Amino acid sequence: MNIAVIGEGIIGHIIASYLGDKKYNVDCISPNINEIKEHAGVNNYLINNFSENKTISPKLKRKDLNKIRIETEKIFKKKCSNFEGLELANKMGLAKFWGANLGYEGLSKDIKSLKLTKGEWDYIKKKIPFMNVQNFYKKRFNWDKKTAFVNKHNFFKSSTLAVYENKIKDNSLKGFKPSKEIFGNFPIERTSFTRINGRVLKIQTNEKPKNESCYLLIETEENIYSKKYDYIIVASGAIGSFRLVMDSFNLYQNNKLFHKINHHHILSTLVFLPKMPYPRKYIGMSNLDASTNYENLSLYLNFFPFRSLIDIYKLELIDGEKSLVNKIRICIVNFLENLIKNFYFARWFFHRLYITNIYLPADVTSSYIGIKNDKLFLIGGLRSDFEKYILKRVFNKLVKKLKLYDAYNLLIKPRSISVGADLHYASSLSNYLKKDGTFKLKNIPKNIIIADSSSSEYLPAANPSLYFISRAIKLVRKIHS
Ligand SMILES: Cc1cc2nc3c(=O)[nH]c(=O)nc-3n(C[C@H](O)[C@H](O)[C@H](O)COP(=O)(O)OP(=O)(O)OC[C@H]3O[C@@H](n4cnc5c(N)ncnc54)[C@H](O)[C@@H]3O)c2cc1C
Repeated sequence: MNIAVIGEGIIGHIIASYLGDKKYNVDCISPNINEIKEHAGVNNYLINNFSENKTISPKLKRKDLNKIRIETEKIFKKKCSNFEGLELANKMGLAKFWGANLGYEGLSKDIKSLKLTKGEWDYIKKKIPFMNVQNFYKKRFNWDKKTAFVNKHNFFKSSTLAVYENKIKDNSLKGFKPSKEIFGNFPIERTSFTRINGRVLKIQTNEKPKNESCYLLIETEENIYSKKYDYIIVASGAIGSFRLVMDSFNLYQNNKLFHKINHHHILSTLVFLPKMPYPRKYIGMSNLDASTNYENLSLYLNFFPFRSLIDIYKLELIDGEKSLVNKIRICIVNFLENLIKNFYFARWFFHRLYITNIYLPADVTSSYIGIKNDKLFLIGGLRSDFEKYILKRVFNKLVKKLKLYDAYNLLIKPRSISVGADLHYASSLSNYLKKDGTFKLKNIPKNIIIADSSSSEYLPAANPSLYFISRAIKLVRKIHS
């Protein structure tokens, strides 16, 4: 049986491997921008200034990411209004730069509700490494008493990262730099599927509904051709899958129809955790997670060592312009680093300081995706009472709750990141699809399955990729010879 998986982001990669390991003939079609080559026509000013003045993850400022982003936008065109809308046409897609937080504890109920078989769950665990950060500290630094705090409160949970623990050599990991330890940062070269370096222009179906043969119109560097498949699995990301499905089935005849795209808006603040220090050599990625609720709003929190922010800032300065101002800034950062290294009190304080990202549920945003005059549009927005209700009431309640768990917020007002820069997108196609990822529309055959987050009405509050991977594994269950 011939199966096509469209897109090699993390979902496409895992699904293509899963089906390939089951001995199906799997083609995974995805463009692969070579980030090493010098990109002709890429404006260096743009590389340095993309997303300037916007509050975003520091990773979005990385030069390598922005090179890929600019090249991607040449093939996947869209217009974003007040919405970051990131697509990356490289192997592993967004997961090449992700935070690798599996949101494992926060997603446990959601994943359980999928009722995966033991074999399916074992497959996921075989493919993706699961590293418990606090256990790592415990093993490497005898950090027992400190991690006891996590267990005592049962509010904070250790973050579980998609990181190969045994590959961490010097007991630390700067998570914002590309590294072999982080799953997804580098492509996995040996696969059980065939990679086609190209882009799917269209899914083509037979006019007679009973005839379920499907074809893909594929564009590679060399040519454009059509290939027949028994099953087509769409995993092109919440934005990419929307574009492909709309183009293939002319679903945008009504130009005015826009669909809600679910995403988490993020607030960011500084929190002091006196009882929860991180060691001298730390994991510069999320160390702790927490879930809480306020008036039916589920909130999810990731805690990053404050020192990782200093590391990122230093790297940005070293990478940036060689101006006098930057040199002075580098001196200040070096001074701060030495202070932390050499003075007990400075280290005591800074190693208990965390950048805290608060993921808000999709209910607080009103962002839309649609096609107008053949162009893909993303329009970002927040609920009208965002300022009054979320930034003031919900945030103040959260601050009070944190205090109960010996966690002290240090900012009067949190920073609110740019709309869409949370990069967890979902639900763009859910209006057209059944729960099993096939189309409600009768003229579209059942052997086309939309397996990524675009087909899910629901976006969990926690970092969602592990949920969407599990869900995709469930959706392809029906494939058998
Ligand atoms: C900085 C950053 C930090 C993040 N941190 C976390 C985290 O800690 N935890 C977490 O759970 N999530 C995190 N995320 C989000 C996570 O990375 C994404 O949700 C996830 O990678 C989405 O995977 P995907 O496979 O659905 O889509 P994508 O990664 O978007 O992949 C889609 C692929 O499909 C290809 N494609 C698109 N259209 C076509 C077409 N027509 N033909 C062929 N191929 C096509 C694209 O080129 C791409 O390779 C983060 C993201 C970023 C950028």
